[in-house]
Amino acid sequence: MTMMIQAEPQTAIVPQIQDISHAISDAIQQQRAFFATNQTKNIDFRIAQLQKLRKAIEEHEPEIFEALQQDLGKHYMESFGTEVGLVYAELDHCITNLRQWAKDKKVSTPMFHFKAESFVQYEPYGIVLIIGPWNYPFQLSLLPLVGAIAAGNCAILKPSELASHTAAVTRRIIEKVFTPKFVTLFEGGPDVAQALLKNKFDYIFFTGSTSVGKIVYKAAAEHLTPVTLELGGKSPCFVDKTADVDLSAKRIAWGKFLNVGQTCIAPDYILVHESVKDLLIERLKKYITDFYGQNPRQSAYYGKIINERNFKRLQHLVNSSSGKVVFGGDFSITSLYISPTIIDNPDMNDAIMQEEIFGPILPIISYNNLATAMEEVKMRPKPLALYVFSRSSEIQRKVLQEISSGSACINDTVAQFANSNMSFGGVGESGIGGYHGKSTFEAFSHAKSVMSKSLIIDPPLRYLPFKMNLATLKLLFKKLV
Ligand code: NAD
Repeated sequence: MTMMIQAEPQTAIVPQIQDISHAISDAIQQQRAFFATNQTKNIDFRIAQLQKLRKAIEEHEPEIFEALQQDLGKHYMESFGTEVGLVYAELDHCITNLRQWAKDKKVSTPMFHFKAESFVQYEPYGIVLIIGPWNYPFQLSLLPLVGAIAAGNCAILKPSELASHTAAVTRRIIEKVFTPKFVTLFEGGPDVAQALLKNKFDYIFFTGSTSVGKIVYKAAAEHLTPVTLELGGKSPCFVDKTADVDLSAKRIAWGKFLNVGQTCIAPDYILVHESVKDLLIERLKKYITDFYGQNPRQSAYYGKIINERNFKRLQHLVNSSSGKVVFGGDFSITSLYISPTIIDNPDMNDAIMQEEIFGPILPIISYNNLATAMEEVKMRPKPLALYVFSRSSEIQRKVLQEISSGSACINDTVAQFANSNMSFGGVGESGIGGYHGKSTFEAFSHAKSVMSKSLIIDPPLRYLPFKMNLATLKLLFKKLV
């Protein structure tokens, strides 16, 4: 049975929080006992669990599409392309490569240790906690889970309460596939997350905002629990004067308005060379209209803002900006609809240029000197993603070299996320650690360094009393270490 506990408002619920806390400690205790049986360390077991998970997702695919439609208004094609399909790809990649990844990795041993062998052994941490966000609620809970299982851990999931339909279908899948002593799921909001975080886990994988990331990191520090923090921030997008402006606009419009701008690595704002700004805005308008029609509210491909709170936050960002709305700007709170919106030249001190937008609003700021524009970005927290549209390899290199970011993409947006051969994560305030493909397996594994010494020979050099002088020892270090 999977734990299914809904959080209630704080005031009336002290006993319920206690119930949740008890259910959580029971679940952790059961998982600790199961982990101690060593069953999860068996590679065949892990692969079988991943295969079962894949099959159950396939069986629930229509329900997942329906849930994503209800939570975020996502079209099923988008739900496959940006959620379910990515989970299948990760599962397949992992099932194919796991035996290889999990093998002990032999490394060389300095002569000084003669005679010995050294290797790195990947061991599971134990019981891991995965806390997910609402924007890609299926994918961002399931991708870490794939890695947690692949590495041989037990896992507890806490998906976001704001995408409640997706959380419910995820729970049904988890319930169907796994015994709770191996993998279980708690539904609920911050209070449930806080109740979970009071416990000692062996690893915590959190995806969400930078502010909550700090709360999670503090809670983890209490137990010295290692973490992956996949956080957010403002991801800048440079469009240089040498860029292919038409294709840049197409790719920016796609990445920005995907999931109604509620994508952690969406281009947050554009810094464009003044000579191509007007053309870029004109082309953006064209592609937004091509993608979503004259009235995006009627488009099956355009979803909705997750809730009223975010709607109002976004409305305030637009209303308080000194920039000019040159496209869109339609808001309807009853349908949580905000049309794709372009804001020309906001002030860098406007709220819209200070906080992560996380919605379908695209500020465009022109520059005439790339170095000055880059300085503006460098003064800010390190972004999760960085985009540069340019035909000049020199400018591409300069931007990548000078601006630190979690990931980057040249002449496209968002695409770098979907490559299992590269780790994905933030840096500085946009996150700690990374995952995807092999790096998800590595994130959930402790790489134990092992040296195995021969019993046949035992050189006397290190033993006391010292039989050589310091000069000889220095020489030996140079030659043998
Ligand atoms: P959030 O931080 O509000 O919530 C994330 C999770 O934390 C949810 O499960 C929520 O229930 C829980 N939570 C909320 N408040 C909490 C608290 N006080 N204590 C403990 N847990 C708490 O984030 P969100 O609104 O779900 O997601 C949006 C943010 O996530 C954006 O900043 C976005 O950039 C970021 N994000 C990052 C990535 C990435 O891969 N780096 C992916 C998606 C979203």
